[in-house]
Amino acid sequence: MKDNNLMDKLVSLCKRRGFIFHGSEVYGGLANTWDYGPLGVELKNNIKSFWWKTVVNNRSDIFGLDAAILMHPDVWKASGHAQNFTDNLVDCKNCKKRFKLDDLKNKKCPECGGELTDTKKFNLMLETHLGPVDDSASRVYLRPETAQGIFVNFLNVLNAMRPKLPFGIAQIGKAFRNEITPGNFTFRTREFEQMEIEYFVLPEDAEKFHKEWIDRRFSWYKDLGIKKENLRLRVHEKDELAHYAKGCTDIEYKFPFGWSELEGVANRGDFDLKQHTEHSAKVFEYFDTVKNEKITPYIIEPSGGVDRTVLAVLADSYHEEKIKDEIRVVLKLDKKLAPTKVAVLPLLKKNSDIVKMSHAITDDLSTCFTVKYNDTASIGKLYRRQDEVGTPYCVTVDVDSLTDKKVTVRDRDTMAQDRVGIENLKNYLFEEFV
Ligand SMILES: [Zn+2]
Repeated sequence: MKDNNLMDKLVSLCKRRGFIFHGSEVYGGLANTWDYGPLGVELKNNIKSFWWKTVVNNRSDIFGLDAAILMHPDVWKASGHAQNFTDNLVDCKNCKKRFKLDDLKNKKCPECGGELTDTKKFNLMLETHLGPVDDSASRVYLRPETAQGIFVNFLNVLNAMRPKLPFGIAQIGKAFRNEITPGNFTFRTREFEQMEIEYFVLPEDAEKFHKEWIDRRFSWYKDLGIKKENLRLRVHEKDELAHYAKGCTDIEYKFPFGWSELEGVANRGDFDLKQHTEHSAKVFEYFDTVKNEKITPYIIEPSGGVDRTVLAVLADSYHEEKIKDEIRVVLKLDKKLAPTKVAVLPLLKKNSDIVKMSHAITDDLSTCFTVKYNDTASIGKLYRRQDEVGTPYCVTVDVDSLTDKKVTVRDRDTMAQDRVGIENLKNYLFEEFV
């Protein structure tokens, strides 16, 4: 399949089947905003809860956090965002279009050849005002990263939970950047969701833990069902690194538009905590009982993009198969990520006994799985629709079911059908989902 083609097909499937819609579409859309529909929000939540389970619930050394999006403006002075989070921009004096200086090959407008203005610094933080007065004193920013919410709570978590190094704080949340050149569907957007861990370690252990986290996070994407050959690590060159960073490795996915970052795993040294010690009224230190001294921990930061991961999972699971003269589109999603686990389909929607039985099965299975009842088309069409949204199992109730108390269970990937007693259905499905 041609890769551009794949991207178009994904965007179309996402809209048609309720994964992702264009933001504010009925008003002509708001550029670069996307809304997750009924199935998109389930997929996204499944990815987020698998992350949370892996890095928070299954570990005793990492604590969860949900910090406010709006933070004190001084946070962004301490972090460096107020001064350095900028792009160099030029405007075309003729057509008024705006460009990133880095993207230009010569000193002329790439659109019309017009003359360009001098370079201006443009801060990428989105600003708003708190309270009724619109003045500079009330100006705040929508956070450009979730990390600072974790750093400023370092002492709170230390005092409340009393952990020993190494320990971490993890958070999933929205962040905002006024990107000049967003694009590639949901890959680069101005409003996006991050899943970040800040892992605090003794300075001498930083390199060891950096390596460990790179491996661990790479494995996590494989555990999402993403094919290994579509994942790679890319070590940042020295000139790509932030001045304080000791090292950074990206986990990249082979998107239809090329290899691009899913997650960065950085060794941030002691920069962040030292900055907050300098700019706030607190001292961001940890008392090492072994050495009997206060130290500023180093930080290892695995920082992933939720929206990018959703997109990678969709691209990776999209399959087309030729069956007789028809193309079957199937999302081969890992079962734990599938928005709907089981679809219950009555073979004849005019037969009220079949419908009644189908509803009873739906209700019963719903206590254990995400189940959807659907009778809006013929069985062939219903199967195709469930394949397109990655539903692992379809349960069909037919006339025989009324007497033999059995249903047909169809497997998404093999399309093999199994006749299963209704009494056994829950156990059967449990075993399939293990
Ligand atoms: Zn121009």
